[in-house]
Amino acid sequence: MEKNPTEDEVVQFVLGIKKSEPELGIARLHARIKSDEPTWALSVNRLRSILRSHSLTNTSLTATSNDSGMAIADEFRDRLYISQTVSSPVSNLTLPTGIEVFTSRSRGKGLQVSSTLPESIPEGAMLWTEPALVLIPPISLVGLIPTGKACSYCSRPLVSMSSLIASCSTCSGRWCSSRCRKLDKIHKYIRHGKYTSEWIAIEQFAVENEWSAFYQYAYTLAASIFDDQDEGQFSKHFVRDGVAGLAKIRQDIRQKADPQHGKAMFMGEQLEMMWEAGYKVLCKFFSHLSAPSYEEYLSGIGMVNINNLDGSIYLLQSHLNHSCEPSVDVKIVGRTAGVKVTAKRQLYPGEELTTTYVDLKKDVMFRRQKLLEGWGFWCTCPRCMREQDGTLEDGQRENKSPSSKDNVGRNTIADADSPKKKKKGKSKSKKPTSEPARVRKKSVTFDDNVVQIEI
Ligand SMILES: [Zn+2]
Ligand SMILES: [Zn+2]
Ligand SMILES: [Zn+2]
Repeated sequence: MEKNPTEDEVVQFVLGIKKSEPELGIARLHARIKSDEPTWALSVNRLRSILRSHSLTNTSLTATSNDSGMAIADEFRDRLYISQTVSSPVSNLTLPTGIEVFTSRSRGKGLQVSSTLPESIPEGAMLWTEPALVLIPPISLVGLIPTGKACSYCSRPLVSMSSLIASCSTCSGRWCSSRCRKLDKIHKYIRHGKYTSEWIAIEQFAVENEWSAFYQYAYTLAASIFDDQDEGQFSKHFVRDGVAGLAKIRQDIRQKADPQHGKAMFMGEQLEMMWEAGYKVLCKFFSHLSAPSYEEYLSGIGMVNINNLDGSIYLLQSHLNHSCEPSVDVKIVGRTAGVKVTAKRQLYPGEELTTTYVDLKKDVMFRRQKLLEGWGFWCTCPRCMREQDGTLEDGQRENKSPSSKDNVGRNTIADADSPKKKKKGKSKSKKPTSEPARVRKKSVTFDDNVVQIEI
């Protein structure tokens, strides 16, 4: 599939190369792009003009000395880690009509409007809806599940004596509906039998350390492993194949992009101790199945951090790359209903579908830092380039990204996390209290810290 790369894709690619080979001239750079991205239709002239407009024509990442945005890029250069993120295609992925997956070295996997689509997609069109691939209870509610105070599948607190509530015949667990009971494929493996106490130990470790990513990974791993044993009507290995295709990055590599990294030795050691302790707790449950290696575990923690949307994993949505001028809207319509993705504007054949990973009301520096810390890349989307050059006034910026459109309707259970979220030393840059309650959370900067709530 021949592809016309976007300016942003070209810039990301060049930034990746310049990190290791800052001296590469334009001819060799072009040859390198041709060999690494054989499907790209990119002439030397277009490459030259892109490099010029992004001030990348000289030998370093920082081109124009009076350009504050790129000067920061220089400072942050060593913290880029996007090139170490790995992701593979999902086998048997079912795609909505008119949408296809592309893979590029600079941006990994992504979604685009099919290049063969005869016409454009109008603004507001629904592109797809999808339930979570792995719906994960927030750690603030896991303590309620074993005793049936919250639904074992969707983790909705069960306060009433509704006749819809279904009870487990083996344990005290309950579900808010027979539908949740049916969808809960891992209940019997984690709540019953020989290893239940080892699973509870995983939950307790996550809660005690306020470490959501740890629990999200353990849950995702369990959902993936027990998918093998599913005999239901769902396609075999759907969860396992989906999880295998999620982008992965080792958490210790991500941690290097933490602005505090290197400044506080003590904190780094503490973190490592927590990772190791978590690994031991995790292995006690998974050792009778197939325990991940320590490296796989660190990759798994990184994976849930970069892929989760409000604490759960959505397969197609996780394919969406970032832009500060996203082309689609992602809204969570319900805990079990999942997400709805619509066209934010008219979309043309071959055009990439992009979402935002950060709060679009924030300025370019804030967004770039968040993206660097959370996903390891320096955003060079058209909006960031315009704003770094100061070509967009504040008023225009607000109009450009109306917050109401970018928000995701978060469900009430997931919302329980936010107000009580507290900061710990290892995650200093996240300031949840400064964000409006309904701002969408695409993943977390490092590891989510959540305190348990009492009901
Ligand atoms: Zn439920
Ligand atoms: Zn049960
Ligand atoms: Zn941007």
